[in-house]
Amino acid sequence: MSIRYIDELKDLKGKKLFVRVDFNVPQDEKGNITEDTRIVGAVPTIRYAVEQGAKVILASHLGRPKGEKKTKYSMEPASKRLSQILGKKVVQAPDCFGPEVDALIDAMKPGDIVMLENVRFYPGEEKNDREFAAKLANNCDLYVNDAFAVSHRAHASVEAITRIIPTISAGFLMKNEMTFFDKAMSNPVRPLVAILGGAKVSGKLEVLETLVNKVDKIVIGGGMAFTFLKAMGYSVGKSLVEDELIATAKKIMDKARKKGVRLYLPVDCVVANTFEATATNFITTVQEIPEGWMALDIGPASATLFAETLRDAKTVIWNGPMGVFEMDAFARGTFSVAESVGNCYATTVIGGGDTDAAVNKAGVASKVSYISTGGGAFLELLEGKVLPGVKALDVRKK
Ligand code: AMP
Repeated sequence: MSIRYIDELKDLKGKKLFVRVDFNVPQDEKGNITEDTRIVGAVPTIRYAVEQGAKVILASHLGRPKGEKKTKYSMEPASKRLSQILGKKVVQAPDCFGPEVDALIDAMKPGDIVMLENVRFYPGEEKNDREFAAKLANNCDLYVNDAFAVSHRAHASVEAITRIIPTISAGFLMKNEMTFFDKAMSNPVRPLVAILGGAKVSGKLEVLETLVNKVDKIVIGGGMAFTFLKAMGYSVGKSLVEDELIATAKKIMDKARKKGVRLYLPVDCVVANTFEATATNFITTVQEIPEGWMALDIGPASATLFAETLRDAKTVIWNGPMGVFEMDAFARGTFSVAESVGNCYATTVIGGGDTDAAVNKAGVASKVSYISTGGGAFLELLEGKVLPGVKALDVRKK
């Protein structure tokens, strides 16, 4: 694939530049943005476009308005936050297209920024509708995709629009995502260690199947570990188990063994009598999980074992928490692994909202080589898929 980046575009001055960003940021009930990583991530691209004198037209989705205009999902708080970060006015358009938007765009001067309204206010966005894409495109000269986190979706502002705007490119955030992913998965310095956690095996089956062909070691924690432990013959009490995937877990372990991939599972865990923050809990080995109790975190011996697997790692990729880290009583395993990843001498790439939150809470975010802004998109890359939004940027097709 051949992708052109924004800094390879010529003569941006005065040109209408459509920039698809992902400002799908979490907000509290009052509409205050509680976390702005994705906005901050797109700033280098926006700043560059402004400095080059482009007329910058930003588009994003937010939440799930299901094709209807709902004030709750307006882009306004995001454009206000962007304006604060840039120290520059960002004009919030009342819609995605139409006479009022045209008037705003016609009045733009080089370096001005207009933010369109939520593209998911129209059903055409998620349907990848060409007509909707043409309305959005608004005769723009140039297109930039800097929305990695939504590039696993073939939606109108990500896919169909690339067949309408004459010149297409990717932004700096996209460049970082692709570069680090490539470093970690396509051309890794070995040993390459993958740490996988989260709730279920079913959610990450394809990831596991792909990783077992690529990595030197796989560390499995979180709820998904218990399907593997049960497959090994342990009684895991009321821990999360997908019985229908026990055979698959066995196959994955078999394959790992045949390929010489070392697969690590927890050796101890924190068990609780109920799924509650205040549940009675204690640490036990995985051999001795009592009947009727559930494992909600890895134990200290597992945290030490997992840290040991990283000792000689040159590349580490991590997705998914080691336990129910939303509850303090079951967060220690995840934080401990976050610290080990942060302190290891390797290129470390992490992805997924939970994992991102864990390294931030553990205070090691600045020590990680790269934190992906993508959840679903990151997982699809791990599955070995080509994202439709990235495929659409292949300039050889044009
Ligand atoms: P995922 O979206 O698959 O990455 O899963 C993330 C969720 O997995 C988090 O909300 C965790 O609370 C949950 N989780 C992690 N470990 C466990 C466990 N041992 N039992 C139940 N849920 C877990």
